Amino acid sequence: MRHRREDLLPEPRWRRLLRRLPPGLRAGGRPVVAGRVLVLVTTLLVLLTTPLLVPTGRDLLVVAASAAGAAAVLAGSLLVPWRRLPAAAATAFPLLVMAGLALLSRTGVHVDGAYAPLFVLCFVFTGLVLVPRTGWALLPAAVPLHLVVAGGPSAPAATRTVVAACVWIVVSEVLADLVRRQRAATDVLRRDARTDPLTTVGNRRDLEARMRLLAPGDSVVVVDLDHFKQLNDSRGHACGDEVLRDFGALLARGLRRGDHAARFGGEEFVLLLPATPTSAAVDVVERLREAWAAGGGATTFSAGCATLDESTSAQQALVAADAALYAAKDAGRDRTRSAAAAEGWGPRVGPSDA
Ligand code: GH3
Ligand code: MG
Ligand code: MG
Repeated sequence: MRHRREDLLPEPRWRRLLRRLPPGLRAGGRPVVAGRVLVLVTTLLVLLTTPLLVPTGRDLLVVAASAAGAAAVLAGSLLVPWRRLPAAAATAFPLLVMAGLALLSRTGVHVDGAYAPLFVLCFVFTGLVLVPRTGWALLPAAVPLHLVVAGGPSAPAATRTVVAACVWIVVSEVLADLVRRQRAATDVLRRDARTDPLTTVGNRRDLEARMRLLAPGDSVVVVDLDHFKQLNDSRGHACGDEVLRDFGALLARGLRRGDHAARFGGEEFVLLLPATPTSAAVDVVERLREAWAAGGGATTFSAGCATLDESTSAQQALVAADAALYAAKDAGRDRTRSAAAAEGWGPRVGPSDA
């Protein structure tokens, strides 16, 4: 089975935009990529607004040096082993941006506090990308740097800095809280969208998504509870539901890590067993059968197994496993049958029939 995340929810627009960045700039993980965007955006804003300040030749030189500094930061960020560092290491980006703005204000460009509002972008970054409270951790550096950008130590600059600091904290904490809630809601939706509520195994949608990841060597098993209608009729629908719930619990605890179970519909389940030859898939089903019987399963079950090879698709394997299941039903139920790809998917007697 290939390990690719199949997502049912549409990707947010900002993440799609990040994916359009040149491949080099996308390295290092999401906080780092967002950090590079922060550097790019602030540098572009400085470059685009410089003409409004009626700069002298020297000022233009300073601005050009700042752009070169930003390019050096971006280039340097490609050399850092970000994956080995904690996510908080990405606070280097807002720190460098704020230090760069302070440097720009000190080296002769008569900006008169013009770039001070850009500090808020650094706190938008921490709120959106880093963990809550990172904005607070940034304050001890942000306050003195903002004082410099706002015109040096004076009562108006100090007032502007205090007001700005309050805005930064509100912005970063509100954004961090929204992001946290949105992530939690997305996790719940993502899980619910793929879970069968009665049995808590995967649902049909989950199965279809996972089927697309199957590869040669993976096995597909179709399991169907025997005489389930009879059980419903004799002991009631609620009892039938209870049996389905118990069977779902058996699959959840009885399968190996990496295996997946989904409810195909009614009292029928599909198991996806990565890198599992047919004989091992049959063993897995037989272990489940023993555990189900040991737990006093209200009814037996039948199963059909098929294994993908280079020439068969997951869908063909599912059809073959289903055919093998019906062969198991025809042979008297409470047994497993397998279909061998090499034999043209013809049903073959499994060990439980031996
Ligand atoms: P076989 O051994 O041939 O599989 O017979 P069966 O009775 O299990 O199969 P059949 O397809 O005739 O009946 C399946 C039954 O499963 C009919 C349907 O009412 C019941 N069923 C489907 N979904 C649910 C459910 O969510 N809860 C309950 N309690 N019953 C369900
Ligand atoms: Mg049945
Ligand atoms: Mg059925």
